[in-house]
Amino acid sequence: MAISLRTLDDGAWISVNDSRTVGASDVWTLARGRFCRCEPAYVLFEGFTDVGVDGTSVVAGAVGRCLECGRHDSLERLPVGRIVDGEFERYEASAVQATLEPVSGRAVEPGRQIPPEGARGGEN
Ligand SMILES: [Zn+2]
Repeated sequence: MAISLRTLDDGAWISVNDSRTVGASDVWTLARGRFCRCEPAYVLFEGFTDVGVDGTSVVAGAVGRCLECGRHDSLERLPVGRIVDGEFERYEASAVQATLEPVSGRAVEPGRQIPPEGARGGEN
């Protein structure tokens, strides 16, 4: 694959073939609770930590913050685009997320109910 991918400007941009193509400072809509428990989550990415190709997908590591719950975290393998006939085709930030694969090994735990102190009944 002759496409050259790298991050530029401290991760503010993903460069494709030496032109700044995907900017970090967009709000990305992540529909599947992959970043946090919001569904959808509106995540403002601050920067990309790396970029690479996975099959025909272009995936980036990114650091961002959820605008809803405030969670600040990094996300691996954010799909930012794909390669079609040797050309990079960018996903729109607002339209990405039907394409996200389920997370493996990092399933979101269902909220565990801890009964409040004193509600357990029994021994005093
Ligand atoms: Zn959130």
